[in-house]
Amino acid sequence: MAGDRVFVSNHPLVLHKLTLLRSADTESKKFRELLHEVSLLLGYEATRDLTLRETRVVTPLAEAKGYELAERVGLVPILRAGLGMVEGIWQLMPHAEVWHIGLYRDHKTLQPIQYYNKLPASPTVQVCLVLDPMLATGGSAVATVNILKDWGARRIKFVGVIAAPEGLRALTTAHPDVDVHLAAIDDHLTPPPTLPSDPPEGYIVPGLGDAGDRQFGTG
Ligand code: URA
Repeated sequence: MAGDRVFVSNHPLVLHKLTLLRSADTESKKFRELLHEVSLLLGYEATRDLTLRETRVVTPLAEAKGYELAERVGLVPILRAGLGMVEGIWQLMPHAEVWHIGLYRDHKTLQPIQYYNKLPASPTVQVCLVLDPMLATGGSAVATVNILKDWGARRIKFVGVIAAPEGLRALTTAHPDVDVHLAAIDDHLTPPPTLPSDPPEGYIVPGLGDAGDRQFGTG
């Protein structure tokens, strides 16, 4: 379904690490390391069009033309699974601000409910990278982009690891101006459970399970 603004990485390192992330045998510490590494690689791809301004630099031999980032960047992890994507991208841009958004999915309606948002009154960054490894129904991503647009962010990108077609459609329909960077688009979301042994509704299949639980060892 990839449209003009949907970028699914085909980088061999991303695909290799994604396979390890998916594996039910990957324990929590390794999962966090892999998520860090995949986020760094996706962050590299997502920042390829950041605006630069020219500057001068003095090398040990001569003065030379150089470049510096012209836009202030904010990382916006959606709590809690997005937390594991911050450090990798921060390694690329140590001066990026980090603004957390807390949303949880109401289990009955699957609608996002905001519980944490400390954004100041006016925007302090020009570009926001919204971070959430799993773009499932898309509700949290759409709500977060709404919050950032209301805040006044000029350019917003979503960086995730795996999307369900349903969530990707919801995000790109609500916000066609937002670039979406992913490692994979999976098959579907789980339906409402009919048996006690069924997984909860709204999980990505095949996916990787609950990205929060797998990072924080709470599953
Ligand atoms: N959140 C997750 O962590 N995993 C899914 O599959 C869907 C939402």
